Amino acid sequence: MSDLASLHPRAGAVLEVDLGAIVANWRLLAQIAAPAGCAAVVKANGYGLGAAPVARALAAAGCGLFFVATLDEGIALRRALGAGPEIAVLNGPLAGTAPEFIAHRLLPVLNHPGQIAEWEGAGDDHAAILQVDSGMARLGLTAAELAALAARPPSYPWRAVISHLACAETPEHPQNASQRARFAAAAALLPGVPASLAASSGIFLGAPYHFDIVRPGAALYGVNPIPGRSNPLRQVVRLYGKILQVRQIDRGEPVGYGAAHVMQAPGRVATVGVGYADGWPRALGHRGCGHLAGTRVPLIGRVSMDLVTFDVSAADPGAAHPGALIELLGPHYGVDAAAADAGTIGYEILSALGARYHRVYRAPPDQ
Ligand SMILES: *Cc1c(COP(=O)(O)O)cnc(C)c1O
Repeated sequence: MSDLASLHPRAGAVLEVDLGAIVANWRLLAQIAAPAGCAAVVKANGYGLGAAPVARALAAAGCGLFFVATLDEGIALRRALGAGPEIAVLNGPLAGTAPEFIAHRLLPVLNHPGQIAEWEGAGDDHAAILQVDSGMARLGLTAAELAALAARPPSYPWRAVISHLACAETPEHPQNASQRARFAAAAALLPGVPASLAASSGIFLGAPYHFDIVRPGAALYGVNPIPGRSNPLRQVVRLYGKILQVRQIDRGEPVGYGAAHVMQAPGRVATVGVGYADGWPRALGHRGCGHLAGTRVPLIGRVSMDLVTFDVSAADPGAAHPGALIELLGPHYGVDAAAADAGTIGYEILSALGARYHRVYRAPPDQ
């Protein structure tokens, strides 16, 4: 870890991404879902971790189908991956953009009749993915729109038919079974077209939810897909913030904006170069923690834009010095723990991870 600090002298914080853990997570999910195929969702820049390095590692491990959210993300990923893997764009074509999908060999997910017409208008019978709504009222055809489509099929082939579960992280929720039934009925109207319903949590609802292809995102990156039970996935992310300054503070002295924290005893405060502009949630004010040389150090005061303060009184005084790294995410305090303290979900912690972090990618052992 001191190596990390000296390797990144300019960094306020260093984000380590374990590509080997991502590949291991993908293999575990693929094994659980088999014989269904396993795609990978790398939208929002690979949930904040870097779509290009993540997708390259997964493609080398055998993943052949990637999902992003937007056309821009699809174009960038096509450049990163080259010609081989399939890349699907979940939000589908906005008006006038169908030719760009074709030029970059991207599979659009068509979500409503307007997008279906847009794709037909682009000509040349390029394959597309169809999304049907099975109970989320977000994206996808209604049952009536699907019946009309099935009666008058378009000229182009369907690569897959997909839908998305609203409550998959709550296995006992009755909406899971009802969405599954509605999706199965929809897929039956498109015989021979591969069907895909499950994302990370849906994979753990069992084989009836797997259909032909599963589409995990968050679980690849170590977020627990089965909240309340032990996480079967490997942790992927470690985030280290660098100490900029350490001060000795008397009892009764305030720390940070709003004088919102007042020291209850004399102690040492370390200021670290990470803030809410880096995606470290302001909601962690007075709540989060870090770990310094293995000792838990509470986050005190408010999170500023570029700075955050920790009470390091309990840590070895030799360890708390400018340039030392405090673990903000890692084995002691994972993405889900930080999310719980911030009142959010791991997805938001990851996808907010800041652009200012220096990033280190650990390659899979076999690549
Ligand atoms: C984001 C997304 C996924 C992946 O979801 P996770 O819960 O991150 O696994 C799959 N399908 C669709 C349609 C999505 O929007």
